[in-house]
Amino acid sequence: MNFQIHMIDVKNQLQNYIWLLEHIPTKEVVAVDPTEAHMVEDYCAEHGLKLSQIWLTHWHKDHTGGVPELLINRHIPVYGPRDELSKVPFITHPLQHEAHIHFHDLNVEIFAVPGHTLGHIVYFIDALDVLFCGDTLFAMGCGRVFEGTYEQMYHSLNRLAALPARTKVYCTHEYTLANAKFALHVEPDNLAIQQRFDKVEAQRMLGQCTLPSTIELELQTNPFLRVESIAAFQRLREMKDQF
Ligand SMILES: [Zn+2]
Repeated sequence: MNFQIHMIDVKNQLQNYIWLLEHIPTKEVVAVDPTEAHMVEDYCAEHGLKLSQIWLTHWHKDHTGGVPELLINRHIPVYGPRDELSKVPFITHPLQHEAHIHFHDLNVEIFAVPGHTLGHIVYFIDALDVLFCGDTLFAMGCGRVFEGTYEQMYHSLNRLAALPARTKVYCTHEYTLANAKFALHVEPDNLAIQQRFDKVEAQRMLGQCTLPSTIELELQTNPFLRVESIAAFQRLREMKDQF
């Protein structure tokens, strides 16, 4: 395999991760949602990597904050949602639903997943079974519905749930333990959720990253993928907002 994924644990209050997708033969990397420029610079310098693309999922500052600084003295493409161009003017390659982009010989598919924000997009790489999904799908949870409707978010999550079960899910935040507590609260008899809760709790005690997840695991343990109507989704999301 010519590619590997690196994780930068930002260790900020929002528990962000910055994912780097490396093309191993050239050591070129894509940075996904680089919230902190200096952490990307330091990581690349330490590992001999060369930043060659930036992929953004949505406009929130904790996903885009590092971009202006990373562009100083660097001419690289910045991909991001066309519908959020007014909020993220440094996007050089605006993307819309079902666009395709390339990183070396990889074909990357873009899906629009409105709900958390109106323009939110995700990056799906079939050849690697990889999904970079920002703040739409989380391990055992989902993003808050800030700008879109519950109906939009429900359909966006269903779109991601229909990806191949083996797809590895790289979301942006380490929210898994809090999500697991809520999942156990709403599905106390779900054995898969009980087992995953125990595992996640142990991982977090050791300070370990609980990602990536998989679509298969999310279908078994994520209550937001297990509701069967928009109304039920809305009830669940509103309950989680107060949890
Ligand atoms: Zn966000």
